[in-house]
Amino acid sequence: MSKPSRGFDGLVIKAWRGRDYQLTVRGSRFVTDHYLRVSFDTGTLLDDLPVHPTMWIRLWIPNGTKLQQRGFTLVDPNPRARTTDIEFALHDGCPATEWAKAARPGDTIDATVLGTKFTWPKPDPSGYLVIGDTASLPAINSLLTGLDGTPARVWLEWQHEDDQKLPVAATPHTEVTWVRRTDAGAGLVQAVAEAAFDATGQHAWVACDTKTTRRLVGVLRDHYRLDRKAITAMGYWRP
Ligand SMILES: Cc1cc2nc3c(=O)[nH]c(=O)nc-3n(C[C@H](O)[C@H](O)[C@H](O)COP(=O)(O)OP(=O)(O)OC[C@H]3O[C@@H](n4cnc5c(N)ncnc54)[C@H](O)[C@@H]3O)c2cc1C
Repeated sequence: MSKPSRGFDGLVIKAWRGRDYQLTVRGSRFVTDHYLRVSFDTGTLLDDLPVHPTMWIRLWIPNGTKLQQRGFTLVDPNPRARTTDIEFALHDGCPATEWAKAARPGDTIDATVLGTKFTWPKPDPSGYLVIGDTASLPAINSLLTGLDGTPARVWLEWQHEDDQKLPVAATPHTEVTWVRRTDAGAGLVQAVAEAAFDATGQHAWVACDTKTTRRLVGVLRDHYRLDRKAITAMGYWRP
């Protein structure tokens, strides 16, 4: 049988000098019915690359005869032990979800590292506005863990009731609001807009679906008076 192809994405990522690795599954556990945490041996991946908040890799997920790349965030990466976890927000029937649910110890999956980067904003912001959903929660948790007492206002979009039970790395300086996903993200955009204030001096970090992310950037500029440099935004999935 021929090896599954990475297709056009594979060629582009190779041209951009993405670094290739292989992960091996150690085990998995459900955090909720809709959230699965898989543990991996990372091989040499963490030998080469310094760990940073929101660090992500591209997993090559099997889909028929093809491999398709999907971004996933490293959770508790441990370079010394050469391990990491990845948390999968499950949506049935989708390739990454089905792969994660079927994963058993000893299974392997290819991964490429390209594009992950992080710098803390300078000068230090007086506070953070953080907006995401269950796909970006692992990245948000890594961000909140590094805040060191800086206040953060966090909005998280949920799709399943039990999403609201997912652990959030909140401190006494973090205010978390869960908002139900309605109208393809419009409910979240409205909730954030309704809470608007002059946030000059703060930094915003946004990662929802691509369309919602774009709309939230508009709200942050128009209603929170943040300029583009004070906003870090990335669409995490395509609706
Ligand atoms: C930098 C980065 C880091 C990421 N980290 C994580 C992570 O740690 N954990 C994680 O779960 N996801 C993470 N994501 C998002 C993940 O890559 C996407 O959700 C991806 O689409 C999942 O692939 P799939 O094969 O399950 O679904 P796809 O085949 O890509 O999509 C199939 C269908 O599912 C829908 N869909 C996809 N994702 C979601 C979702 N999250 N909620 C609802 N519907 C969805 C799509 O709209 C589409 O209709 C990250 C993305 C990026 C860019």
